[in-house]
Amino acid sequence: MSNIDYIQRIKDAGIVGAGGAGFPTHVKLKATAETVIINGAECEPLLKVDQQLMEFYPEKVIAGLKIAMIQTKATKGAIGLKVKYKKAIEKLEVLLQDEPSIELHVVGDFYPAGDEQQLVYEITKKVVPVMGLPLDVGCVVINVATAIHIAENKPVTERIITVAGEVKNPQTFFAPIGTKFSELIKECDGPTDIENYSIIVGGPMMGHVEEDWDAPVTKLTGGIIILPKRHTLIDKKTRKTTTDIKLTKAICCQCSYCTEMCPRYIIGKGTEPHKVMRGLANEDSSALGVISSVVSCCDCGLCSLYACPMDLDPGKLTNMVKQSLLKKGVKTEKIVPFETDVLRENKKVPTKRLIARLELTDYNVAAPLNEIPFTTNEVKILLKQHIGVVATPLLNVGSPVSKGTLLASCKDKLGACIHSSINGRITKITENYIEIKA
Ligand code: SF4
Ligand code: SF4
Repeated sequence: MSNIDYIQRIKDAGIVGAGGAGFPTHVKLKATAETVIINGAECEPLLKVDQQLMEFYPEKVIAGLKIAMIQTKATKGAIGLKVKYKKAIEKLEVLLQDEPSIELHVVGDFYPAGDEQQLVYEITKKVVPVMGLPLDVGCVVINVATAIHIAENKPVTERIITVAGEVKNPQTFFAPIGTKFSELIKECDGPTDIENYSIIVGGPMMGHVEEDWDAPVTKLTGGIIILPKRHTLIDKKTRKTTTDIKLTKAICCQCSYCTEMCPRYIIGKGTEPHKVMRGLANEDSSALGVISSVVSCCDCGLCSLYACPMDLDPGKLTNMVKQSLLKKGVKTEKIVPFETDVLRENKKVPTKRLIARLELTDYNVAAPLNEIPFTTNEVKILLKQHIGVVATPLLNVGSPVSKGTLLASCKDKLGACIHSSINGRITKITENYIEIKA
């Protein structure tokens, strides 16, 4: 099969990066690279998706990686995963015995090992420049679920998702895109007095609090964490930005722990959240730090949820300033301003200690993979689930659809095709979503 066939196939299937902002995979794989890396170092506490996929479907992960290598003309492949994923490592090691161009790269259990730029450094010892991409150092990074989608060669209609926290039976599901969170939570014997609980969508570190328990699963939803409303994590994530700024003015002691522990600072990118805090505290934009020190933040949350002794939120505020700079079109050189900290190994934050700091130890339990796909009678499929334009519906209310029917497309604009995730009939189309009932 020619390369063009792969790109068209991936585009038609609506495959996007399953681990980050959802960059369309057919665009990413048009690049030429030296190395394709599978990011299996899932680092969000409590989520089990990638480790289970690598354990249950290692052949597909390797097949997807090989297609990505052919497409990008990469001569090397690597699968980066954590030392604690013992079963996945065992299976992959056997399968990779006759694959000399693919390396299994085992990293420690630290946060944020799954930040693609940390993983690129772990594997290649190269630092992605500020405002740059892994491609700037010859790498293309794809998520485990994305590799499986590439190998499967069929429309993306399901999302693998861990449901954890205050539920009696945490599980990892294959859920049809558009499934209501509430249905998955019910399946896990979650709370019924929902007014006392909150949902974090994504992981505890980078996820956001979602008010709507009936919000739909998208191609990017890797986890749902249910926590009591009074939990410190919910408190912090729902604190108003105006309160964060007031607190910064009152108690930021400029200890710089946020910067000293920032993974992007440590790697040499010059990220300095304490300067952002200084600038905001003094209402002095000249004290915020240079542009590269702000835009290199990856929003990992480590400074806010682990490093700061005053319970401030330097990560959120740095990201807020970053977004406002990017909106203004501010640019900086693609550079790596500093050397990587020689103490990087010692500064890595062990996931277990992070979980304890987040007060999540009681929830750090198994969430077994349920290989039987979850079934639902109704889905609400968003027309914008990731980076790119809003997809345009191609069918009308009343149209019968099957699982895999093309519902909406972005034509030649940046984005991805959207397919029906169940058999049924379209019952509603709005500017934001398509509703289908079985
Ligand atoms: S935000 Fe927190 S860690 Fe950073 S300088 Fe201020 S007090 Fe220190
Ligand atoms: S969120 Fe904080 S620790 Fe993470 S990259 Fe940004 S500044 Fe650094």
